[in-house]
Amino acid sequence: PASRLEGVDKNVWVEFSALAAKHKAVNVGQGFPDFSPPNHVKEALKNVGTMSTNDMIHQYTRGFGHPKLVDTLSKMFSPLFGVNIDPNKEVLVTVGAYGSLFCSIHAFIEEGDEVIIIEPFFDCYQPMVKVAGGTCRFIPLRPNSPKKGNYATSSDWTLDPDELESMFTKKTKAIILNTPNNPLGKVFTRDELQMIADLCVKYDCLCISDEVYEWLLYDHHEHVRIGSLPGMWDRTITIGSAGKTFSVTGWKIGWAMGSANLIRHLQTVWQNSTYACPTPIQEAVAVGFEEEISRLGEEHSYFKELPRELKAKRDKIVKTLTEIGMMPIIPDGGYFMVADASNMKVDLSESENSGETWDYRLVKWLTANKKVATIPISAFYSSGHKSMGEKYIRFCFAKEDETLDKMEKIFKEWA
Ligand code: PMP
Ligand code: GLN
Repeated sequence: PASRLEGVDKNVWVEFSALAAKHKAVNVGQGFPDFSPPNHVKEALKNVGTMSTNDMIHQYTRGFGHPKLVDTLSKMFSPLFGVNIDPNKEVLVTVGAYGSLFCSIHAFIEEGDEVIIIEPFFDCYQPMVKVAGGTCRFIPLRPNSPKKGNYATSSDWTLDPDELESMFTKKTKAIILNTPNNPLGKVFTRDELQMIADLCVKYDCLCISDEVYEWLLYDHHEHVRIGSLPGMWDRTITIGSAGKTFSVTGWKIGWAMGSANLIRHLQTVWQNSTYACPTPIQEAVAVGFEEEISRLGEEHSYFKELPRELKAKRDKIVKTLTEIGMMPIIPDGGYFMVADASNMKVDLSESENSGETWDYRLVKWLTANKKVATIPISAFYSSGHKSMGEKYIRFCFAKEDETLDKMEKIFKEWA
């Protein structure tokens, strides 16, 4: 194999999804909903499949994005960025948000470049930067004590502005931001984003902003797009995902948006690697967005309905986890919850010498012995910082109540 693959062969999703399947565990690990996507989105796909009027729907479409989808994305997002997004030059449709991350990183990062990554981070950022030849510089979000008597929440986790500034050097090419964040569910506030934006301008660097959970916000939290802050459109690539937007992770459609002088380089990576996404799926995503554009702001808009349902699920598992002695960190956005599991009385002596961190050992034990599959948080930290994540595990609550009830029953019998 090419030497650039050294050290990127292990993957937390590959490992833990296989483990969950092997043990037929209640799966609150990998992030995908086990409930139905909205009817209108399922219908859209069904109708595309039987579209007798247009057999060309089964052939290649425009490589950088199906015309109907890029037009709809432009219509949806132009007002949110306060920019008239050119559907042909300022949008690229890719295989999932993964594809857009890959194209962004490979378009701009090369040997000698540094990329700032905020921990805990969605795990693929690091291998993508490494394979592109870049060096990651990691800065952790640090937990502040919650207000007395309150639960810990993801907003307690903050960046130290001076520490962040100290990460920027002459070599810094980009910072990768993820809001709402996976795994913590932290939603960066406008002030926090302005601080990051000011540093991007001061050090003339790019911002790759992964916003796949952009519609999933709880309580009073607001999703602010860093690309919409003054002076940021021209230096920000914003990434989204139909999988997360419409609860169809298996469709694997994502997109990158930004100014033409950035997106054209992503297009170069794309045209030479994958070239185009499946036409029928793009058509169905476009129809899904058109319907949602017509309902925007209404109570039955999926962008309101989904977070409303997820908030109830979030609160349900907070209760379960607290009752059994775990200490959840309540997320302000996204569909994951991180919990401190260090109080759990569990004998992990069998895996003592495995060389693995405590959370990995705990998650493996829970999956095999309790048949509940979760994800260890040290997977979201760089090698030097694994100990910061070691006492935590991640739960996905985008699950049927029935799934969450099964988890609750198992946990209550155990604890
Ligand atoms: N970014 C984050 C933060 C994610 O959690 C995920 C997983 N859905 C992705 C990107 C990849 O998304 P997709 O499935 O659309 O490739
Ligand atoms: N984004 C999802 C998660 O964080 C799944 C990622 C994957 O399966 N590769 O769980």
